[in-house]
Amino acid sequence: MSRIAYVNGRYLPFRQAMVHIEDRGYQFSDGVYEVCLVQDGHLVDERLHMARLTRSLRELQIRWPVTPSALAVIMREVVARERLRDGVIYVQITRGVATRNHPFPPASVKPALVVNARPHDLAAGDRAAAEGIAVVTMPDIRWQRVDIKTVSLVANVLAKEAAHQAGADEAWLVDRDGYITEGSSTNAWIVTPDGVLLTRRVGDGILRGVTREVLVGILRRDGIRFEERSFTVAEALEAREAFITSAGNLVMPVVRIDGRPVANGHPGQLSLMLRGLFLDGAEHSSLRFSPGSPNMSD
Ligand code: PLP
Repeated sequence: MSRIAYVNGRYLPFRQAMVHIEDRGYQFSDGVYEVCLVQDGHLVDERLHMARLTRSLRELQIRWPVTPSALAVIMREVVARERLRDGVIYVQITRGVATRNHPFPPASVKPALVVNARPHDLAAGDRAAAEGIAVVTMPDIRWQRVDIKTVSLVANVLAKEAAHQAGADEAWLVDRDGYITEGSSTNAWIVTPDGVLLTRRVGDGILRGVTREVLVGILRRDGIRFEERSFTVAEALEAREAFITSAGNLVMPVVRIDGRPVANGHPGQLSLMLRGLFLDGAEHSSLRFSPGSPNMSD
């Protein structure tokens, strides 16, 4: 089946899906994005992803290229045209196409919108979770506005590549004081030796992960002990369990940190239980978008 992508108002065959060389996303990484899981044809936690996109656009002073309702329709159309069951959908908005010059272009320049989707094997994720993954720690060299989901990801790219070259799956980034901030494309969690779940506070050098947020809701609902506070590499090495969260990974157990096993080197019970609970706690969108639907209330 042939793939398609939405590019600035048109659904195009994948091979023809191109952006201009003077798109400011390409020139300056002047843009934002979202990645949303699709399960059984439904967008997972769309409302929270759209809320974060709204905030990212506001922080960078980029206008909506289409209304949020129109974007909701476009996303469903891309999923439908791709006949996607399980996958991820990618939304990117840049400040548009203009002659290369650092200041914002004139208001007449329309922001650019790209939406595309691809299959994502959820069963393969479950198999990986049964084994667990390895992470390595390294300095967090990113800029100070990592709370904005911008396409400026070169520091994250370097970190992930360094992790892969070290034989690991993810990099855990460490701030100047020795505390882990987050992964290169995931949030970081540990369970202390006395059983308390820890993850770093929002507003303190991390991206507000949607998966993180939904999981926090599940922890509160189920009365599972957790604290939002920073933890050091030393605490991570002493942890009873560790895991990462992201839309694509859901809850993924970490079994090695810097080459050393986490506890007995097997995925932790709590991590696996939370993985099991996650999709039940997540919000699945309706297939058709209707304005005012509860999924899009903010
Ligand atoms: N932290 C970073 C740096 C990320 O890039 C991501 C996802 O791309 C996350 C955390 C997890 O966010 P989410 O759960 O919304 O996928």
